Amino acid sequence: MKYRHSFHAGNFADVHKHVPLVALLQALARKDKGFLFVDTHAGRGAYDLASAAARRGAESAGGIDRFPPGTSTGQPEIDAWLEAVAAFRKARHERHAYPGSPLLARHFLRPQDRAQLVEADAGEHVELRRELRDWPRVVVENGDGFARAIAGMPPIERRALVLVDPPYEDTRADFDRAAATAKAVLERFPTGVIAIWYPIKLERDTTRWLEALAARVAPRPLLAAELWIHPRDSRVGLNGSGMAIVNAPFRLDERMRAWLPVLHQSLAAPGQGGWDLRTWGSEGVG
Ligand code: SAM
Repeated sequence: MKYRHSFHAGNFADVHKHVPLVALLQALARKDKGFLFVDTHAGRGAYDLASAAARRGAESAGGIDRFPPGTSTGQPEIDAWLEAVAAFRKARHERHAYPGSPLLARHFLRPQDRAQLVEADAGEHVELRRELRDWPRVVVENGDGFARAIAGMPPIERRALVLVDPPYEDTRADFDRAAATAKAVLERFPTGVIAIWYPIKLERDTTRWLEALAARVAPRPLLAAELWIHPRDSRVGLNGSGMAIVNAPFRLDERMRAWLPVLHQSLAAPGQGGWDLRTWGSEGVG
């Protein structure tokens, strides 16, 4: 396993993934009853964008750095994410720090909520544990996130958000396992909200996978929000970023149609890239 998120932290794909994550956490927090947040591929939690690893590809220059401190986009979900990043930096006195999904979640979770975070890499897992050592309602596991997420269902709260964010180093295997995990989670807990991040490389492969995923999770609704900054079939590597969400909260699609153009304008070069939102099945799970 070679993938290290430190090389990619804060890039355009992280932005496109973390804004909906914030929106989902906020949507679940609209009800008082606690919920379980599961992060199947948690990473190390915190990233230093000034580190040698981060500076190598300078990927945050095309992501979080496009939003200088104090930026307000007029989109509540983007602004809530920016405020969480600013609060994280302020608390650590590190202006180049960037919160990964576990630490973003920590910002939005309430005392009645719980988190189950899984990371397979031993070194990254140690760092994540250290970051979260004073958070009582979290379990940080070293293992296979796909299997652990299924094993944790159904949650005692009967409410859950599962983020599935594999590295796609073995692209075909991670696409297959992400879809299989969504199906298995829903078999044990049909109302779980599941968000799967996926890379956009070849259009044909992505579309085929989404159609198959929609069939596997049916009759549960599926929404796919995509943002690309390079032509969708170009060979640059990562052309775009997708979030597939099963059982999306009511009206999330409407909100996404408002914030995706803003992200696109902020993250893509003028006249390049695009965004798209597709849905399968009925919308609006409470
Ligand atoms: N979710 C993180 C965030 O948004 O900040 C980023 C996660 S990164 C894309 C993927 C992580 O998955 C890496 O840290 C990698 O070590 C880890 N990983 C790879 N295979 C795994 C598996 N089967 N189970 C859990 N973690 C795994």
